[in-house]
Amino acid sequence: MIKLKGKPVFGGIVKGKIAYYARGESVVEKRKIDDPDREFRRYEYAKSCALSQLNELYNIAVGDVGKNDAGIFLIQQMLINDVDFNKAVKELILDEHYNADYAVAKTARDFSQVFSEMDSEYIKGRSADLKDVCDRLIRHIQNKSENTFNVCDRAIICADDLVPSETVRLDRSKVAAFCTCYGSSNSHTAILARTMNIPAIIGIGTQLLESYNGCDAVVDGYDGTLYIEPDEATLARLEKKNVEELKKKELLKRLKGKKNITLDGTEVKLYANIGGLSDIDSVIENDAGGIGLFRSEFLYLENDDFPDEEYQFYNYRSVLEQMKGKKVIIRTMDIGADKNISYFGLEKEQNPALGLRSIRLCLDRPEMFKTQLRALLRASVYGSLSIMLPMITDVEEIRRTKALIEETKQQLDAKNQPYSNEVELGIMIETPAAAIMSDILAQEADFLSIGTNDLEQYTLAMDRHNLRMESYGSDNHTALLRLMKITCDNAHKYGKWVGICGEFGSNMAYTEVFLAMGIDEISVAPAIILPLRSRIRTLDIREKEKILKKYGCLN
Ligand code: PEP
Ligand code: MG
Repeated sequence: MIKLKGKPVFGGIVKGKIAYYARGESVVEKRKIDDPDREFRRYEYAKSCALSQLNELYNIAVGDVGKNDAGIFLIQQMLINDVDFNKAVKELILDEHYNADYAVAKTARDFSQVFSEMDSEYIKGRSADLKDVCDRLIRHIQNKSENTFNVCDRAIICADDLVPSETVRLDRSKVAAFCTCYGSSNSHTAILARTMNIPAIIGIGTQLLESYNGCDAVVDGYDGTLYIEPDEATLARLEKKNVEELKKKELLKRLKGKKNITLDGTEVKLYANIGGLSDIDSVIENDAGGIGLFRSEFLYLENDDFPDEEYQFYNYRSVLEQMKGKKVIIRTMDIGADKNISYFGLEKEQNPALGLRSIRLCLDRPEMFKTQLRALLRASVYGSLSIMLPMITDVEEIRRTKALIEETKQQLDAKNQPYSNEVELGIMIETPAAAIMSDILAQEADFLSIGTNDLEQYTLAMDRHNLRMESYGSDNHTALLRLMKITCDNAHKYGKWVGICGEFGSNMAYTEVFLAMGIDEISVAPAIILPLRSRIRTLDIREKEKILKKYGCLN
């Protein structure tokens, strides 16, 4: 038996088989070939396939985001039609007798080098397109499809790390657990695991080897241990622990239908965070009062192309209908940083977490944003919808969004398509800027929801995906709690409600200080609702000042 220790992300004990996720990066060998003419024909065929795929992508993108932004696919076509590029590839194949994929990879590297030495920022930015398009070309030469990963039933997915676009594409009915070498508790894969109720361990380190692929294993997500080929005694012990944990969960079910109320009578709303339609059963099962955060970008991450208006409308409408009039807060798409998707054609940035992401990207591509806003407004007549904007740093971003919403309403009016006029527009407080000027923002928004995952990383200057940072900062940091308190005070000053939708909201060691500062709503993974309700019902927050002082919120 091999025992590997990591950091627990979501509890649960499950048995399964290890499925090691090796990224679908193309491996290119350097070889000499016997028949250069045939190899060159292979290159030309692959090129024609890549070009027709790019053309298709362009046509779809024009419809969704307009000609300007779709232009990225035209640029990529121009890059692989470039005369110098083709001359270099041809020489490597026909004159030097190298294999076609090597010829493309080498030419791409040489061209990238030249691009990076140019003065023009625009040309420098084309390196990412060149890599993207050459990867596509190489996939065609090697006859490989886009990244696919077929897992067996009860798979314990192991990987060095997973990005959200990989996690959401896994067939979740087959996934028993996630284990990664790296990652951090606030990374989106960890968040998804919690939302999806899947036991998970992160930060196991390099002892988690690809050679364990196919081994029987057990994950203990409570204490963060992965047992590979467990012995009988361990299996029996874990079985016993599992039964005890399940009993505790069973007991919590008695709290269904009960209030989230402290001993002194303070009530708070408990909502659920979701990534998509498949999480709704768990929201209902766990008796959430509503949905406090629907991360709509997962609809984009799950697909190979921009989800169109109808697809989005269907998803939003279904969530609203299933929630039967309970509040549903849908966050407009938060793409960028770790949630990157190749079809967006985002330029490579030195610091993507500080770059063109989230609301900035939406306002930069208004046609794409309006597609989402139209789908949301059309769905609004099927329940109680609130729209929430991520990564706000300035009041202008809210005003510009309101103008786009007005334009969208006019488009719907022109087509006689109904929408509700009761939709609230809220914002996330995820940047220190937003917290500091939350008095100004509160006058422009209907509610504020604190995204502690990002607020923490931007306040403490600590990358939320870097496991090593977890031992430095901690989410009890006084600066974070003070910014949360400022936000609460400002929201209430202008009669607005304020919630928490980041992972810190699930940390029950801090529930009393959240309530003492006046948080009105907490949104957590569905499985956390009942344990948190139980915690709230044991608290007494009459002595607010004392509690706030204890946590450093007041001097
Ligand atoms: C947050 O930043 O706290 C948040 C809820 O958004 P996300 O985790 O999706 O960035
Ligand atoms: Mg965030």
